Amino acid sequence: MTSYQIKCPGCGAVNRIPADKEGVAGTCGNCRAKLPPLYSTPRELHDADFDAFVAAYPGPVLAEFWAPW
Ligand SMILES: [Zn+2]
Repeated sequence: MTSYQIKCPGCGAVNRIPADKEGVAGTCGNCRAKLPPLYSTPRELHDADFDAFVAAYPGPVLAEFWAPW
C-alpha cells in the first residue's frame, strides 16, 4: 500500500499516512495533535470553494489558474 510521510507541526514526529486517506486530517501517533490533511494529487477548485479551501489549509498552496478563452 502506498503511503506518505507528514511531519507533525507540534512535536516533529514523522507520521505515515496511507494514500487512501488523502484529504483527511489525521492525528499524530506521538503527541495526538491534529495533523493537516495531505493532498498528493492536484485538486480542482472553483469560485465557490477556492477561498474556503485556501483559508482553511494550514500548509502552503500552489495554485495554477486557467480559463477556456
Ligand atoms: Zn506530534
